[in-house]
Amino acid sequence: MINSDCISCDACVPECPNGAISAGEEAYAIDPTKCTECVGHFDKSQCIQVCPVDSIVSDPNNLESKDQLQEKFLRLATT
Ligand code: SF4
Repeated sequence: MINSDCISCDACVPECPNGAISAGEEAYAIDPTKCTECVGHFDKSQCIQVCPVDSIVSDPNNLESKDQLQEKFLRLATT
């Protein structure tokens, strides 16, 4: 998830291999149905690597295991 520290710099949007990040009306947001935390694409979450203010953090209400993220990656790849 993207917290309120976001400065809307847009750096994360092109880095997401799943197209899960978008500029919302009030703040940037990650679509949890599309985010695999880069599992299936990269070793580390690319958005976290580029965010200049460390505003991308785990959502405590939506914690997913590596296996769950891998399943989501495979599901997204076949739809
Ligand atoms: Fe916001 Fe960080 Fe994304 Fe920039 S990289 S838009 S500060 S979440």
